[in-house]
Amino acid sequence: MTDAVVVGGGLTGLAAAVAVARAGLETVHLVPKGPPDRRTSALMLPSVEYLTGAGLIGDPASVGHPLTQIRIIDATRRLIRAPETLFDSAEFGMSAFGWNFPNVKLSESFDAARAGLANLTTLETTLDDLEIGAGGAALRLANGDTLSAPLVVGADGKKSRVRETAGFRAREHGFTQAALVCDLGLERPIGGTSIEFHYENGPFTLVPAGGNRANLVWIDDREVLKSAQEGGKEKLAALFAEKSQRLFGAIELLTQAHMFLLSTLAVDVAGQDGVVLVGEAAHAFPPIGAQGLNLGLRDVADLAASLAAVDLEAPGFGRAVSADYATRRAADLARTGTMVDTLFRSLLSDFLPAQAARATGLWALKLVPGLRKAAFDTGMGVR
Ligand SMILES: Cc1cc2nc3c(=O)[nH]c(=O)nc-3n(C[C@H](O)[C@H](O)[C@H](O)COP(=O)(O)OP(=O)(O)OC[C@H]3O[C@@H](n4cnc5c(N)ncnc54)[C@H](O)[C@@H]3O)c2cc1C
Repeated sequence: MTDAVVVGGGLTGLAAAVAVARAGLETVHLVPKGPPDRRTSALMLPSVEYLTGAGLIGDPASVGHPLTQIRIIDATRRLIRAPETLFDSAEFGMSAFGWNFPNVKLSESFDAARAGLANLTTLETTLDDLEIGAGGAALRLANGDTLSAPLVVGADGKKSRVRETAGFRAREHGFTQAALVCDLGLERPIGGTSIEFHYENGPFTLVPAGGNRANLVWIDDREVLKSAQEGGKEKLAALFAEKSQRLFGAIELLTQAHMFLLSTLAVDVAGQDGVVLVGEAAHAFPPIGAQGLNLGLRDVADLAASLAAVDLEAPGFGRAVSADYATRRAADLARTGTMVDTLFRSLLSDFLPAQAARATGLWALKLVPGLRKAAFDTGMGVR
């Protein structure tokens, strides 16, 4: 019997394991071996403040690159097009909206924070099965071991075994679009501006990665991306230069392009029966408006708050933590899910009134200070 088991070694799992162990619980962390996560994450200032406050990273400048502007260009050939819109962090009295971090570097930094915690044991295996009983959960692991604990944290991603076996209800929806991701070298520097070209099938986004480097996230129909990828590096580079309207001159691929299938996932509640879900085990969206990991880190921050609010010496503390956590997370999960879903669908709509509404919305964002502030608060995850 241990106090808590954290399942999953992605970024939210690593951060959650630190939070649970720091609360003083004897913690087992299941971290199966996997390939390095070659993506990057744009994290907004509140998330970065959480990471530095929790000691998960030191100086952000030693891990990532600041994002000072967000520029949105309507590159569609639609009848009603939106105006170009620029958000500048200085307009909101900030030196940056956030930072762009390589996930591999975040992972190394989170790992270093785990290393000093004597009450945290890491097992390199997966969860096979979980059963909820009166005194807590019984877990069967792929290495043949069994564990039991009053508190289980599911951080095991979109296909979460914890979510499935603990009986959480989830709504899922798959898209025909996917995201193509790679690192690019640009002829001209991109500075601190994240730039989104909005095409009919989805945005083509360049995120600053320092100097003349950028991280590409291109969302388009799966078949379009597949055939572009099959064309090879040279053809891809030429296509990227064209899609970025040659604003940065010639483009070179610095890494291989990887494709991620897109879907949405939402749970009705994020905690029940001594089990809590964090990160993509609880919510997944298309990578639009950089919300996924930002929301996952807010999950971890609220889990830490629940652990501080509940009496962890009391019998059945796991159920008290899961109930408190479910209440804390409800509004943020609903709000962010609706925001990303609306954004994604409005970007892709071929329906004329929807195009008009979107163009009008972007005009309003361009011109109305109150709306810009509201959009800023939502995007930053200000609560
Ligand atoms: C192309 C792309 C770009 C993105 N860009 C951004 C961005 O700029 N900003 C942002 O905030 N978000 C972004 N996101 C979202 C972000 O990457 C995810 O929200 C985040 O990585 C999810 O982390 P996680 O730890 O919840 O899940 P995962 O990274 O999927 O980790 C799950 C872990 O659980 C483990 N696991 C699975 N099954 C089991 C089991 N049975 N037992 C034990 N362990 C198990 C896996 O091995 C893995 O280690 C992006 C997503 C994509 C696809």
